[in-house]
Amino acid sequence: MSAPRPPLVVVGGGVAGLSVALAAAPRPVLLLARGRDGGDSASALAQGGIAAAIGPGDCPTAHVHDTLEAGACHNDSTAVQYLAEQAPAAIARLQALGLAFDRDDDGRLRLGREGGHHADRIVHAGGDASGAALVAALWRAARAAGHIELREGQQALALLLRGGAVAGVCLSDAQGGSALVETAEVVLATGGIGALFAASTNPAGADGNGLALGLAAGAQARDLEFVQFHPTALAVGEGRGDGQPLPLVTEALRGAGARLYDDQGRPLMAGLHPLADLAPRDLVARTVWQTVQNGEGAWLDATALGEAWPSRFPTVHAACLAHGIDPATQRIPVTPAAHFHMGGLATDRDGRTGVRGLHAVGEVACNRVHGANRLASNSLLEGLVFGHRLGRQFAEAGVLPMPARGTHVWTGSGPAAGAEAMARLRLLLWNALGPVRDGTALAATRRMLEADADGHGWQGRLAVRMLAAALERRGSLGAHYRSDGR
Ligand SMILES: Cc1cc2nc3c(=O)[nH]c(=O)nc-3n(C[C@H](O)[C@H](O)[C@H](O)COP(=O)(O)OP(=O)(O)OC[C@H]3O[C@@H](n4cnc5c(N)ncnc54)[C@H](O)[C@@H]3O)c2cc1C
Repeated sequence: MSAPRPPLVVVGGGVAGLSVALAAAPRPVLLLARGRDGGDSASALAQGGIAAAIGPGDCPTAHVHDTLEAGACHNDSTAVQYLAEQAPAAIARLQALGLAFDRDDDGRLRLGREGGHHADRIVHAGGDASGAALVAALWRAARAAGHIELREGQQALALLLRGGAVAGVCLSDAQGGSALVETAEVVLATGGIGALFAASTNPAGADGNGLALGLAAGAQARDLEFVQFHPTALAVGEGRGDGQPLPLVTEALRGAGARLYDDQGRPLMAGLHPLADLAPRDLVARTVWQTVQNGEGAWLDATALGEAWPSRFPTVHAACLAHGIDPATQRIPVTPAAHFHMGGLATDRDGRTGVRGLHAVGEVACNRVHGANRLASNSLLEGLVFGHRLGRQFAEAGVLPMPARGTHVWTGSGPAAGAEAMARLRLLLWNALGPVRDGTALAATRRMLEADADGHGWQGRLAVRMLAAALERRGSLGAHYRSDGR
């Protein structure tokens, strides 16, 4: 009798991990996720939706153009072409899973517009509850799939390598139990790093732990300096450094006519870009940041939506009301916040990291599809398209044999920072590595963290890598803005 084949292990229950797992059928997949039903993923928080050139007069070439323009042409144009061309099929697959996107009175898909897009091309569900609807549909499908074993409440802590190739994963659960799963193939789909910043829209678990795990295993990093800051998070308690997300005030509101103002009621974006309030995110985020740095408030006026608020933007509406703001009659106080990491583990378009058996996909990875700045609503799409592509490869390729030679080595990111050190680190990074950077602050923060190498745990070491990348890129590009740049 032959030994049972080790499963493909997918770490992460967001859009990227689920897309890999579903497409890998009939390969047996073990999917590990820290939370239940993907509730702790960034995917579940997404509001705006998914970009796809499916509207009248739109085409993938136009989507490619907008993606490259937002990304400052730092993108891999072949990856961008693939993303845009595969978008309509990704939407059709979701519809086949039963995801009901919002439609207008004539039954046509209602397409939204966000910053950097020159066409209405964002499909959404439940108004601004797109991510929750998407994640629910994918988890439903994963629970029904015979080839997927789901293990929730499990955290991947370390990778076992043999002769430099993947040989297993060490897991732990909330009760402190741990286990080893033998496998020659692991996909990291662990999301981003936003929770390392004092102001962030990301869930608390988006702390870069998968990125640190991959780096410890010998994978290369790419473009770590490129962090996207969302211009409009709800300005309530920012700067606390407690790792809890600020509610997002979706860009789709500006697509629906909302406008940014300063304390005096002057339009913030007037004359700064032909697309004004829908200019690329980095410019809008820096303008809001500068306004706040000048000691003024930045405000989003979306009162014109009036009674349509609860039905069109129920998530933002509820968040505003919870903080005593009625957005139908009052302007919304906003702040920029860390939102998305364009950088990550360097991969090719097939998610390969260079470590045999180790793949990465979604926000933890950098296949250069987003370049120096992600176009709005392209990241759920990235998870869907490149996750599906990777899953199909696992389905079609032979199973990688377990590495037979070499010494076994455990690779993990090491001890984590305590709560107090994390709060300090988040503030340090927000100030030095935020929307506006300069060499002096970057270098001083790096020196400070290097001098206290153990005090900030693996998060501190990851931060040092990001600061070094930002120092090295002396000029401004995309979301990386150096006020002292060339
Ligand atoms: C508030 C908000 C709104 C957004 N809106 C949009 C939008 O409208 N459109 C768009 O395209 N993008 C949007 N984005 C970005 C997008 O949601 C993310 O980039 C995308 O969902 C990332 O997907 P992912 O699968 O890579 O990671 P995630 O969805 O974050 O999933 C990561 C998963 O990995 C798990 N995990 C992490 N580490 C471990 C570990 N060690 N062991 C086990 N499990 C682990 C987590 O628990 C989680 O389940 C938004 C992001 C935020 C925060």
